[in-house]
Amino acid sequence: MLRSVEVTTVLALAASPSHNLHWRDTLELSLDCFVCQRLGRTTIFRLGAERAVCSGDRESGEHYTAGRLASFDHTIREAQTILRAVVDYWWAPFHDEKRDQPAAALTRTPWVRHHLGYLCPDQQESGELTTQTNIVRPHSGSCPYCSAPLIESHEAPWIRLLT
Ligand SMILES: [Zn+2]
Ligand SMILES: [Zn+2]
Repeated sequence: MLRSVEVTTVLALAASPSHNLHWRDTLELSLDCFVCQRLGRTTIFRLGAERAVCSGDRESGEHYTAGRLASFDHTIREAQTILRAVVDYWWAPFHDEKRDQPAAALTRTPWVRHHLGYLCPDQQESGELTTQTNIVRPHSGSCPYCSAPLIESHEAPWIRLLT
């Protein structure tokens, strides 16, 4: 059945010189994958792609799966950048033999990772920052070229099943 998950992530923007900080239109989300029949697989979604990539497990390796990034919107409000993404994917019940646990429509401990790009005005160098569910907060990210602080994360991304 088709499932939809909404991811909402809020980051505080540091008051440093503009680094053209932007959300990259890709995200990694853990899902219980009916194709390789494993729980909590990191699945890579890219806006505009017609399918997603499941990282699989050691034996099976990565594979395509039925999923897409249905929407990807971000807004800036009160020195915060707020991303709201909706991921659609196909889910079917199965039993993970290795963990001996049944699959869930939204995996038991959902996890997400985001990527943000920037351009350092000092050095004209670009780079990438990431933020994810399982980091110690508050967590800050700064530019490695000029050491200006860029973002701060105070709360873990919010992940909820819509349908
Ligand atoms: Zn898989
Ligand atoms: Zn910089």
